[in-house]
Amino acid sequence: MKTIGLIGGMSWESSLLYYQLINNAVKQRLGGLHSAQLLMYSVDFAPIEKLQHAGDWDGATDVLIDAARRLEAGGADFFLIGTNTMHRVADDVCAAVSIPLLHIADATAEVLKDDGVERIGLLGTAFTMELDFYRNRISEHYGIEVLVPELHDRQMVHDIIYQELCQGQIEAESREVYLAIIDRLREQHIDGVILGCTEIGLLLQPQHSDIKLYDSTAIHAHRAVELALQ
Ligand code: GLU
Repeated sequence: MKTIGLIGGMSWESSLLYYQLINNAVKQRLGGLHSAQLLMYSVDFAPIEKLQHAGDWDGATDVLIDAARRLEAGGADFFLIGTNTMHRVADDVCAAVSIPLLHIADATAEVLKDDGVERIGLLGTAFTMELDFYRNRISEHYGIEVLVPELHDRQMVHDIIYQELCQGQIEAESREVYLAIIDRLREQHIDGVILGCTEIGLLLQPQHSDIKLYDSTAIHAHRAVELALQ
């Protein structure tokens, strides 16, 4: 089994999910007492969030490069960045280490491709929904059209992520807000919705919507296990 490296803590609420999903998937594949060989370096999210909102992506890159180097030094065979948003700096982080990154957008897009998806809705932080690094990767590399909510809806999705989900607060009212936003996105004839923030799975599960929800955290974790067991 290969050793999985995970840069966690963004937020730790989703790192907890990663740990559980990865270990459950290994158990399912190998049975018995098997569990994942896994290294996690978990950062303090508060300064990272400040750097993001100040647009200081170079500062955030330095933190992630330091984390990736620690995973490499610890013996990880490949690594994951356990947040969609911080893939904004993935190329620079990759260039600083010699172990490969399992990119969350690639893992997700491969599942979409297998499902024959042509038009997909995307929910995530404003950075993920508005900047090029995520949407373009999916549309240019995989030929899948990515649609995001309108400005006011994007703001609500973003605020709920930072003010509630990343702080472990799960509100039924916010679930309704997300479902209403998904309904508006559906008017654009999408085949499904990417839960493109690693905490959204805490709020929305398949039973909450009759449109297919692609949870980036679960997809990323499962793909990591496939790679580790290859
Ligand atoms: N975990 C979130 C994501 O997947 C948001 C937190 C962050 O900004 O890293 O984008």
